[in-house]
This record gives sequence, structure tokens and C-alpha cells, in this order.
Amino acid sequence: MNVRDSEVICGLLQRSGYKISDDDKQADIIIFNTCSVRKHAEDRVWSLIGSYKGSKIIGLVGCMAQNYKDKAFQRDANISFVVGPQDIEKIPEILKRLSKNEIASSPAFGGAPRNDTSLPSAPRNDTAIPFLFERKIWETDSSSRPEEIYHTGFYQEKDHGQVVISEGCSNFCSYCVVPYVRGALRHRKQESILKEIRQAIDQGVTRITLLGQNVNAYRDNQVNFTNLLEQINQFDGLKELDFFTSHPKDATADLFKAIRDLDKLAKRLHLPLQSGSDRILKLMNRGYAAKEYLALIDSYRKIVKDGSLTTDVIVGFPSETDEEFKKTCDLVSKVKFNSAYIFKYSARAQTEAVKIGPELSRQDLEGRHKKLLDLQRGISNKLGNRCKNAKK
Ligand code: SAH
Ligand code: SF4
Repeated sequence: MNVRDSEVICGLLQRSGYKISDDDKQADIIIFNTCSVRKHAEDRVWSLIGSYKGSKIIGLVGCMAQNYKDKAFQRDANISFVVGPQDIEKIPEILKRLSKNEIASSPAFGGAPRNDTSLPSAPRNDTAIPFLFERKIWETDSSSRPEEIYHTGFYQEKDHGQVVISEGCSNFCSYCVVPYVRGALRHRKQESILKEIRQAIDQGVTRITLLGQNVNAYRDNQVNFTNLLEQINQFDGLKELDFFTSHPKDATADLFKAIRDLDKLAKRLHLPLQSGSDRILKLMNRGYAAKEYLALIDSYRKIVKDGSLTTDVIVGFPSETDEEFKKTCDLVSKVKFNSAYIFKYSARAQTEAVKIGPELSRQDLEGRHKKLLDLQRGISNKLGNRCKNAKK
């Protein structure tokens, strides 16, 4: 999702006359499009921002921006603007203002910190004298994106287009920050999605990946996710179609039949499991039990012969016992995923899971992570796939 969001930002900037540079030393403006799903991702961004001292305009964009809002300026004074994921269309205008040396207090641009009066360098109103103040702009208030931002035609890969079909998520898995930083689930209009794909194909794209936090919950009036897949499958010039990510509670036999029947749709499914323990799944608020997950897999494999299957697992959720971890290992052994992303639980401040205790020790977390990783590696090797090691 962030890779696509970065393309959208590049497209908007290019349309406004900016040049995209692949050399950070040459660039005048550096924009960090960020993730808050795990703490490690945030730590890396803070350390990277710290390495750009001085002359550049630094922007913090995406989920961390939404997470920290104007507090980001306190964390690193080098940051000039902070823009949440729902406000990215404002970036060209913000940059124009920054480069014109305008003051940042206009209400249209967030302006001076509204909730925090402790920032000495920020202007308090439009009558302030610009050069006395550092320029700080932040935008984190919108709840949705205008459709036009998806139509700039900017794709990093010549033959591959990633297309967002839904934004945000309303599932509120107890460990996950996404609903807090990306907002409630919104579906893009079918016509707009189809128009974007048509344009992408016209400019040479042959492979399309549909994106959403929970793609299979897609709905636009009468059109559901499988209907959308059917329509896209008919596009002349398209060679391959896939999608990412599905939630087990919205996965149906109809979806599996579409994977079987639509000739351009890749015969693969990424279906995050998260845990093999019913107690932990319940605490995670995943909406299914291990048995139901297994039944789904069974149905998928019966319908899509030789279809590949991948997953996400979190080890060391608060209060997870050895026995419960073993249930995850048993389920992983039983299902034999082609590959798996295996994550160590990372506490995220806003989420419900932080209220659940006790947290596991670093050592237990590392130990369980390694054990499951080794187990999955063995399975993946046997199946001839690589296991994706989500280290942090
Ligand atoms: N919407 C997608 C994935 C979103 S995040 C889905 O539900 O499948 C991708 C993966 O990161 C999740 O599937 C989960 O395994 C992992 N993840 C999310 N929050 C996490 C946290 N706080 N700690 C560790 N892993 C996490
Ligand atoms: Fe997060 Fe759950 Fe939504 Fe995925 S489905 S983004 S894990 S809340």
C-alpha cells in the first residue's frame, strides 16, 4: 500500500512540475512515506531523518505522520511538513508554500499547532512575520482521498500497476494500528478503478495487483469483489491479475471459484492466519477460530487445484503461552503454506492489545520467532518456495 501511495505522491508532484530524483544527495526535498504497523519501521525512519541535517526540506508522510501529527516537529526539528495518508493530495500545494517562504499559519494548511503550544518556533497567526519563524505545516485532518489522485498514470514498473481498490480498515484487530491511522474502510468507485486500469493498460501495463487492507470485503452498490475481478479479467491487453490482502472472515467459495475460473487471475491466495490458538485469535479480534480457518483452506484447495497459499503469523501476542504457541506451530505444520511472513508482536500505543498483559520477554519473543521461522523454512524448502523472514 505504501509503495502505491509513494507512486501516487510522485505522480502528483511530477504533474506539478517537480522532478523525481533517485539520488538523495541531489534532491532538494526528501519525503518519507512511512509505516506504523511495527515499532521497528518507525525507529528506522527516525534514524534516517536524523541523518539529513540542514539544507533539505524534509516531509514526514503516511501513517507515522498521522500517528505523531504536530508532535513530529518536536521529535525532529528538521521536519518541515507532516501529512497523513488521507491528505497526500495536498503535498504539491504545501511544497509550493514552503518554497515560496510563506508562513505556515494559514488555517487551510493546518498551520500552527492547534493542540500543542509548546513549540516556540511555530507562528501563531497570519500576522506573524515570516522570517522570524521556522516553517512548519501539517495536514492530518481529512478522512478520505479525492479519486483524481489515482489518475496521474505514474507507475514505477513499466508493466506492473498496483491499484488501490479500498482504503482504511474497520476490522480493529486488537494489535493493529491501521484503523487508527488509515481510518475506516472506504471503497473506491468501480468506474474509477476500471478507468485507472484501462489507462494503465493503455500505457503498457500488463499485470495488475489490486490493493486494500481487506480487498475481499470490496463493495460498490451491487458490485462485490468477485464481480470486480470478473470485469477486470475481461480487459484486452491485461495478462495477469492478483490481489492483496484477503481477510479469512470475508473469504468465500465464490472467491475461490473466481481464482479457479478467471484465466488472468493468479492461482494464489494470501490469507493471514495470525495464530493457531482460539483464545489468542479471540483476543486478537480476528473473527474466526482455527477450525474455521482450516475449513476455508480445505475449501480453497479443493476448488483451486495446485493453488499456492501464503500467510502472516504474529508470534508472542501478550499472554500467549507455550501451549498456545505450539498450536500455531501445529497448524502451520498441518496447512503447509508455500511461504509465510512471521512477525514478532510489536506493541502499538493506540491499540486494545496494549491493555492485555503480560507482554512476553524479548528472549521468548525471539525464541518463538526463530522456532516458527525454522519450521516454515523447512516446509517452504520442501515445497520449493522461499520463506519470507519478517525479521523485526
Ligand atoms: N490488512 C492486512 C495486513 C495489514 S498489516 C491483513 O489483515 O492481512 C500486515 C501484517 O502485519 C498483519 O497481517 C500482521 O501479521 C502484522 N502486524 C500487524 N500489526 C502488528 C503488530 N502490532 N505486531 C506485529 N505484527 C503486526
Ligand atoms: Fe489491521 Fe486487522 Fe485491518 Fe488487517 S484486517 S489492517 S490486521 S485491523
